[in-house]
Amino acid sequence: MSVFDTTSMACPSCESSVDVELVHSVNAVRRPDLRDAILDRSFQSVACPSCGTTFRVEPEFTYLDVRRKQFVAALPARELADWKAAEGRARSAYDRAFGKGSDGEALGAGMQARCTFGWLGLNEKLIAHEHGIDDVVLELAKMATMRSLGDVKVGADREFRLVGATDDELIVGWLRTSTEEIDDEYAVPRQLLAEIDAEPATWAALRAEVSGGMFVDYRRALFG
Ligand SMILES: [Zn+2]
Repeated sequence: MSVFDTTSMACPSCESSVDVELVHSVNAVRRPDLRDAILDRSFQSVACPSCGTTFRVEPEFTYLDVRRKQFVAALPARELADWKAAEGRARSAYDRAFGKGSDGEALGAGMQARCTFGWLGLNEKLIAHEHGIDDVVLELAKMATMRSLGDVKVGADREFRLVGATDDELIVGWLRTSTEEIDDEYAVPRQLLAEIDAEPATWAALRAEVSGGMFVDYRRALFG
């Protein structure tokens, strides 16, 4: 089941009260339209009836797709600074619902459980899965790409994300968390993923830095 409730929020532009259908959980199998809306970046976007300003509510919901075996605790970008605590809470909630001895244990078998901060991180998990890309190897490929570009932006408003893929290329770019605008986009040979996979010893230390919990992300290594 997908769960929403109506909440009043202040318009960020004119501060008048706006009724928002706030999401608490998304069931992507029953509501594929919600998955589509996440991917096209329209989900939880609201137009203020007073001034017409469109704004997007920060994610704070659980995303479940039992067909693709994806679970994501989609958390607000502002919680990134305290990701260890947020990841711990996400893990507890996941274990209660799908862990050993829970009612959802069978459903949880083989599930990829993740947590993300902000819309861009959630989108990336869905895009990677859509293109059959392992998200841990993807983070390593992104680290390698940032290094070869000589460009690692560590600001909280800048994220290096997969935005698409073809048969031969990964399309990655620098995006702004606040506006979701892309500044620079790069095409990276998809072969890089296979090269990383072929050299497990070389990548072991970095692999441990970007994974090791539900927050699988290069920023795990940057925001200690
Ligand atoms: Zn307004």
